[in-house]
Amino acid sequence: MRPAVHAYIGIGANLGDPVAQVLHACTRLARDVPRTRLIARSSLYRNPPMGPQDQPDYVNAVARLDTQLTPRALLDELQAIEVACGRQRDGSRWGPRLLDLDILLFGDLVIDQPGLRVPHPGIAERDFVLFPLQELDPALVIPGLGSVAALCRRMASTGLVAIAEEARA
Ligand code: ATP
Ligand code: MG
Ligand code: MG
Repeated sequence: MRPAVHAYIGIGANLGDPVAQVLHACTRLARDVPRTRLIARSSLYRNPPMGPQDQPDYVNAVARLDTQLTPRALLDELQAIEVACGRQRDGSRWGPRLLDLDILLFGDLVIDQPGLRVPHPGIAERDFVLFPLQELDPALVIPGLGSVAALCRRMASTGLVAIAEEARA
């Protein structure tokens, strides 16, 4: 049997009820992905959209999984959850969406294949990825980029706001 690998998943939504979408995505990650366990989820963060500005703010979080799937099989499972949650691909880059699930890290693997790049190429520039990663594992090191703590320190001040847990109760 393959050993379990720690994988970090970026979760984002900005249509419908984005907080509910992100929480529901975590439920599905825990329930629907074979040979995989949901170990932890970061706080939820609200932040302004990347790219086109004429769309609602995003809600983002990061989940940590232990998985025995291959990276490609995990990506297939994430895309199936996106579709089950109503994601439609209309072709516009970084346009509004009900749910986005990206593989941020897959153990210490570096993958550069058509349709799958890990670590996710946007990590170093995205506060909404770096701060939740740091929250889940302050000692995390990203292959090729160094420590997540150093990357967070280098990040200019941003519009990222943690959503208070009690506000969602
Ligand atoms: P970004 O990847 O910059 O955050 P996005 O998430 O909006 O943009 P999508 O439309 O969700 O982009 O995905 C486009 C393609 O990216 C997918 O079809 C998938 O094959 C590819 N892809 C490459 N690397 C990854 C990864 N690490 N995680 C998820 N998708 C990836
Ligand atoms: Mg994305
Ligand atoms: Mg994506």
